[in-house]
Amino acid sequence: MGGVHISIGRAARRTVTSPGMGNASPCTAPKRSVPLPARPILKLGHPTLLARAAAVPNPRAPEIAALVGDLHDTLDLVGGNGIAAPQIGVSLRVLLYAIPLGRLPECESFRPVPWRALVNPEIEPVTGEIHAVGVERCLSIPGLHGAVPRPTVIRVRATTPQGEALDFVARGYHARLIQHEVDHLDGILFPMRMTDMATLAFNDQRPPETFRIPSWACPEPIAGDAA
Ligand SMILES: [Zn+2]
Repeated sequence: MGGVHISIGRAARRTVTSPGMGNASPCTAPKRSVPLPARPILKLGHPTLLARAAAVPNPRAPEIAALVGDLHDTLDLVGGNGIAAPQIGVSLRVLLYAIPLGRLPECESFRPVPWRALVNPEIEPVTGEIHAVGVERCLSIPGLHGAVPRPTVIRVRATTPQGEALDFVARGYHARLIQHEVDHLDGILFPMRMTDMATLAFNDQRPPETFRIPSWACPEPIAGDAA
C-alpha cells in the first residue's frame, strides 16, 4: 500500500562520502552525506508487475540484504507503508513494510509495526473471518485509489533476511497491507481485486479519506497482536 503518504522516519539513510574541494587532502576532506537515489518504481503496465516472482533459495544471502536495503531507501524517499521487490524491478519474493503510529487506523487495536522484511511469505485467511472492504493505493498506480475486499484476519509465515522463521496472525489494516504486498509477488495489482470499479478514483478528484471502514469490520482487540 505504498501510496499512503507518510513520513517513515528513518533519519539515517545509507550515505556516500565525497571529497571536499580545494586543497584538503583525502584524509582531512569533510564528509558530505548524500542520499543514494532510490530505485525507480515500476508503474502499471510494466510486465514485471504482472509476473509471479521467484522464491528466494537463501533468504540470508547478502544479495537479499542489499535488496531489502534498496526497498527501504526507496520507501524512505517516496513515502509509503509497504513495497514489494517486483515494484523496483526485482522479481523475487521479498517485501518490506512498516506501520508507524500515525498510520494506525482509528479502530485498529494493534500496536505500530516496525520495519519488517518478509522473504518467501505465505499467507492464508483464518477460517470464518469476515471480508472487509478498505481503500487501497499503490506506488505503482500513483494518484489512484479504490475499494478492495480482503479477509480481515490472516496467518503469515515467512523468513526474515536474518534467517528467522516467522509465524504470526495479522488483522485489519495489518492484514490488508501484507495481502496487498504479497499480491505484488503474484503479479496482482489492487484493481484486479476490486469488485466495484465505481470506487476507482483519482485522489485529487475524490479524497480516499471519504471512505470509512465500517465499524463492524473492525477486528476485536487481541492482546499481543501484531507480532
Ligand atoms: Zn502496491
